[in-house]
Amino acid sequence: MDEKFLNAVPLLEKLHTEGFQAYFVGGSVRDFLMNRPIGDIDIATDAKPEEIERHFKKTIHVGKEHGTIIVLHKGEPYEVTTFRTEEGYSDFRRPDKVSFIRSLKEDLQRRDLTINSMAMTKDGSIIDYFGGRNDIQKKRIHTVGNPSERFHEDALRMMRALRFVSQLGFHLSEETCAAIKREKELLSHISIERKAIEMEKMLFGPWCGQALLLMFSTGLSTMLPGFRACSSHQAEAISRFPFHHLKSKEELWAAILCLLEISPESSQAYLRQWKLSAKLFNDAAAIQKSQRASWDRFSLYKTGMHTALSAERIRMLLSDKQIDQERLLQLEEIYEHLPIKSVKELDIDGNELMQFRKKKPGKWIAEELEKIEKAVITDGLENGREAIKEWLKTCNQA
Ligand code: ATP
Ligand code: MG
Repeated sequence: MDEKFLNAVPLLEKLHTEGFQAYFVGGSVRDFLMNRPIGDIDIATDAKPEEIERHFKKTIHVGKEHGTIIVLHKGEPYEVTTFRTEEGYSDFRRPDKVSFIRSLKEDLQRRDLTINSMAMTKDGSIIDYFGGRNDIQKKRIHTVGNPSERFHEDALRMMRALRFVSQLGFHLSEETCAAIKREKELLSHISIERKAIEMEKMLFGPWCGQALLLMFSTGLSTMLPGFRACSSHQAEAISRFPFHHLKSKEELWAAILCLLEISPESSQAYLRQWKLSAKLFNDAAAIQKSQRASWDRFSLYKTGMHTALSAERIRMLLSDKQIDQERLLQLEEIYEHLPIKSVKELDIDGNELMQFRKKKPGKWIAEELEKIEKAVITDGLENGREAIKEWLKTCNQA
């Protein structure tokens, strides 16, 4: 068994000693069976949240009413969740009622996809009531039970299905695909924050092209901000764009802005629809605005290295479909050797400039400082107070 599971075995043993059932469940079991790197280890048990808290020293309750407690063991957090059933999804996203139960099978039955519905004992035996192993072998994404019914309970599962297509390189079962086509409109009941998280995970997956083609062909795309009015040309460009080569969420959202051809004036309003954090949408909009055919020392200085490299990475992927690392290193090198990185590093400031020019404050200060920056960056003017003043004497006043 993988070391990550072995480290968590004492938690299962502790629960067994106290008379409870306890299993590894969910994504970690799937990833273990697929020989993929294992992420978080989730544990399911018939112990109630209060009992979990009582039997472990370090716990954090994250969603106690839903039965989830985080147990810290040797510095690692583990989500320990009480077996539960969920009923009455009148809002298409959350159960009206959660009941704690004793049956593992019923707990596994409420899970979204067969590949996510397996459990593993502390000895590594797999419990697979819904054909998860067979679907892994067939590379098939299929819901546990009737897909339409499962999407009526929680419509986000449609996006999760596509997200796993992208992460695992699997295909959708016919029934699951048909149900997404039929039920896509249910996605309107899901909060945009949950959709944005799945969207990001989907786009970063190595098989995102496949998932995007399905997103467009099922019509699920029409339920996402900005994608409804996509032309077939744009849809094709988006499906072919290698998002997984990008380095950050900022780059990812900037690439979406470029691919959807959203003007820089509308970009913040667009990203706000996804309710991204202010920092994320400012950074993404800045990367989009910095798209340019070529860089010189001054444009690199004004844009900043981080944003410039992100913009350049996207430009390369849009035009050549690959990243020229050499070119990125060159830009980095040019930036590193700039004599100053910000106006604050100039050896003269606004106050001194006012004294020197004997003029009142005004817009001219910023304009003149920019001229000095430009001369220092591009014309080799020495960044020293006296040299700058000598140079200013030779310039016309702003
Ligand atoms: P990863 O953590 O790698 O993104 P995961 O499969 O662990 O993938 P999580 O979102 O962490 O996904 O959820 C853990 C488990 O909870 C899933 O494997 C699945 O069994 C169940 N699950 C998660 N979301 C849903 C949902 N919307 N409906 C039903 N079951 C779900
Ligand atoms: Mg997980």
